[in-house]
Amino acid sequence: MIQQVPVKTTCNACHGQGYFPTGQTYPYQGREHIQLACCSACDGKGTLLEWVDLYDLTRLLKAIQAEQPQAA
Ligand SMILES: [Zn+2]
Repeated sequence: MIQQVPVKTTCNACHGQGYFPTGQTYPYQGREHIQLACCSACDGKGTLLEWVDLYDLTRLLKAIQAEQPQAA
């Protein structure tokens, strides 16, 4: 039986910010402010919850280990 575990990943749409500039500005108290839009992909959280099975989790962990420099 394959179990699934939740994995938190950074939202690619907003790069983990939860929002992104729309390219528009709006005046507020005599100054222009950058208009921000809530990221719809992650609902403004900046992270996504992905369900992966243990096989995928092992593969992800190995990929992360490969990225880390060897501990001295
Ligand atoms: Zn997002």
